[in-house]
Amino acid sequence: MGLIKLVLVMLLVWVGFVLFKKMRQPNLSSSSDSDAGQKMIACSVCDTHVPESEAIIKDGKIYCSKDCL
Ligand SMILES: [Zn+2]
Repeated sequence: MGLIKLVLVMLLVWVGFVLFKKMRQPNLSSSSDSDAGQKMIACSVCDTHVPESEAIIKDGKIYCSKDCL
């Protein structure tokens, strides 16, 4: 009986661990994906780092906002 209980507990722990990993993995991969898609680049005027999609690129220079542009 003791061994069966031990195996059951180990199985539960393993299932819990796998579920925990599965629940965390999408968040981690999606956040790293968005990080990869949202490359941070520095403004050439004030050196503020902004996501590439939000940055203004003009004449090969990067600007964080219209103020710096
Ligand atoms: Zn700037």
